[in-house]
Amino acid sequence: MTSWLQLANKTAVVTGAASGIGSAVAKALVSERCHVVIADRDVSRLEEVAKSCSGMAAGSVVTAVECDVASESQVQSLFQNLPATSSPATVLINCAGITRDGWIGRMSVDQWQQVQDVNLLGTFLCCREFLAQPELQMPSKTSLDPPTEPLGGSIVNISSVVATQGNLGQVNYAASKGGVWSMTKALAREVAQRKIRVNCVLPGFVDTEMTQAVPDSVKEHVQKKIVFQQQFGQPDDIANLILFLASCHRSGYITGEAIECSGMISL
Ligand code: NAP
Repeated sequence: MTSWLQLANKTAVVTGAASGIGSAVAKALVSERCHVVIADRDVSRLEEVAKSCSGMAAGSVVTAVECDVASESQVQSLFQNLPATSSPATVLINCAGITRDGWIGRMSVDQWQQVQDVNLLGTFLCCREFLAQPELQMPSKTSLDPPTEPLGGSIVNISSVVATQGNLGQVNYAASKGGVWSMTKALAREVAQRKIRVNCVLPGFVDTEMTQAVPDSVKEHVQKKIVFQQQFGQPDDIANLILFLASCHRSGYITGEAIECSGMISL
């Protein structure tokens, strides 16, 4: 039976896939019978994700690749060495991200730069190398060729509600996520003619390793007073939205958008 999303047999690259939202997205894509290339810094954690996907969907190939998204050469190698079964990739989900929180007076340049390098530069590098795949270029035309459609694709970036509302102790993170949001809109214009869509999601407070460091008292305050639905999001809540945006059959006329998924948060 054809699934509603119609993502079967497509290849998706998911960064930050060893944990949290990235891991949930990877598993959801596998259950849709996608071939999924999962990338992260820690290959042993990636292997665990790959193992947990095995047997989920017949025919789906999961490949784990060690990749630091802030490294130009590693990102180039990721896209230039996609497994034969998984080439070309037509879906890219940029989930890799970090926080290095602190009040501005005590924030080092290193704290600032690490966050820009992973969240903003990393997203840029992955988008650029994904888009450089030969199969994703406009088909070359001569007067004798019959007209052909470009292959198309979908990029989903992960921004944050912090990009739109700001948050205490996160000027570095807010700047990086605001950059991801703006980059998404600019890039969507550049590649629309190639039938490639670029959108971003703005999660609120999601229950992952990233938020585990937050003290319990703050978590309780966030849950009771700041999120109108009075509960944290789960990685699958974000993954469901990402899969919708990945599917050209279901969100084919949506590009350059930023969609919040936060239970209505007011920071
Ligand atoms: P997470 O559980 O910490 O997952 C992030 C993953 O990215 C980790 O596996 C991490 O590896 C990996 N990563 C970090 N730096 C990397 C690099 N240079 N190259 C490759 N992988 C790298 O956090 P999450 O909550 O799922 O976050 C996923 C995305 O959602 C991030 O972009 C985050 O900013 C965004 N987001 C999260 C929330 C939230 O409340 N959780 C809210 C809004 C937006 P290490 O463990 O080795 O660092």
